[in-house]
Amino acid sequence: MIFAAAFLKLLKLVYKRKESPVRVNVRGVEISMVCDNITVNGKGHLCFDGQDTVELAQKYGTPVYLMDEDRIRYNCRVYRRAMEKYFGGESMALYASKAASFAKIYSIVSEEGLGADVVSSGEIYTAMAAGFDMSKAFFHSNNKTDEDIAYAISCGIGFFVADNVEELNAIERIAAQKNVKQKVLLRLTPGIDPHTYAAVATGKVDSKFGSAIETGQAEEITKYALSLEHVVLDGFHCHVGSQVFDSDVYLRASDVMLEFISDMKKKYNYSAKRLDLGGGYGVRYIESHPHIDIDANIKQVADSIKAKAAQLNIEMPVIHMEPGRSIVADAGMTLYTVGTIKKIPGYKNYVSIDGGMTDNPRFALYRSPYTVILANKADKPCDFECSLVGRCCESGDIIQENIKLPDDVSRGDIAAVLTTGAYNYSMASNYNRIPRPPIVMVRGNESYVAVKRESLADLVANDVL
Ligand SMILES: *Cc1c(COP(=O)(O)O)cnc(C)c1O
Repeated sequence: MIFAAAFLKLLKLVYKRKESPVRVNVRGVEISMVCDNITVNGKGHLCFDGQDTVELAQKYGTPVYLMDEDRIRYNCRVYRRAMEKYFGGESMALYASKAASFAKIYSIVSEEGLGADVVSSGEIYTAMAAGFDMSKAFFHSNNKTDEDIAYAISCGIGFFVADNVEELNAIERIAAQKNVKQKVLLRLTPGIDPHTYAAVATGKVDSKFGSAIETGQAEEITKYALSLEHVVLDGFHCHVGSQVFDSDVYLRASDVMLEFISDMKKKYNYSAKRLDLGGGYGVRYIESHPHIDIDANIKQVADSIKAKAAQLNIEMPVIHMEPGRSIVADAGMTLYTVGTIKKIPGYKNYVSIDGGMTDNPRFALYRSPYTVILANKADKPCDFECSLVGRCCESGDIIQENIKLPDDVSRGDIAAVLTTGAYNYSMASNYNRIPRPPIVMVRGNESYVAVKRESLADLVANDVL
């Protein structure tokens, strides 16, 4: 009975996502939304995973992060299936949890068969709190403290992704104290710059992360790792970039990595078991961003790696990928209530909301594009040009510039910022002592709180009074 229900649900999920992108009437024209989990209902209200966002705003208050649980699961399944289909064996996608780290997400990705990439004791603690199987966790970061290393080993972390020699020494020393053999991957820089689409001698080689293949440092650290007693060298890792829309960078990075693996085999008779290609597939923040067919991209990468491994006559390594953004970004949406509207004739218009850079610092940090829609007037034409700004005492507190909203935008309206599932909650702060919004999960006809709204009392919880 339960099986049948679960199966039906799965079928529904797969079927639903196979529909072509939903075209809805927004701004007076038929357009396809940045993601097919967004629609508009008969009241002209924006819907997320079929639920009326205006009602959700009323029920949970604003600002609020919404997360579409079905979409997270769907995104996980796309990776899981493609990894199984094209790489097979132990190959597995790891959710890069820095994109959005809270207890519930670790349960979801674990249920969907993904491992996790963690970057701090805090993320490890959160994963542990959710009962995550730590043998499927990979510990990143370019500067792990001795405390981090000791904590991760005591939690039974599966793998360290070691960045440099000092860190290898610390892992060796602490693993020896704890009498464990610790599996480690080495983070290498293959010298690929994803944004110029050229293999460059500088650029990624001068990154603060990892050891460069080109300078010989990668070989040095490999040789050194192989000499250690409590470090078990299990393979290599690289991460080429973020918001990448093309497999080309992965093809070139994996070529360089496989050549390095082959080189290590010849020189030291070392066969790397794993190759972790990092994260980075892009998502659509705005209409002009392309759709990525993850399955087709992974197939292309797999075909290329298999051919290269055969050509080099090396064993096919276990492959990992570490998607963060592409698992959670389009599963998120932030709702705000509109407050002050300031019109400066001949200059600029400002629409202020009850959140801002404290819950979404990405425009302030690197001018990230976002799509903004007035949730309670989603079917109205949009001719009012304005900037959506936050409530912080900081002129850079902008969510998006030069957007268009309906002419009658007014205090009390609900503004929705789309595709906020990645690097919003996880980058949120309490600047100006503004409490962090809650995360409300929507699933089917239900919604529930996964992270509570911070209270004013929470803000002084650590203050010594
Ligand atoms: C940030 C990061 C990821 C995830 O990148 P996305 O662009 O969110 O997919 C994966 N691996 C490493 C090492 C990272 O630093």
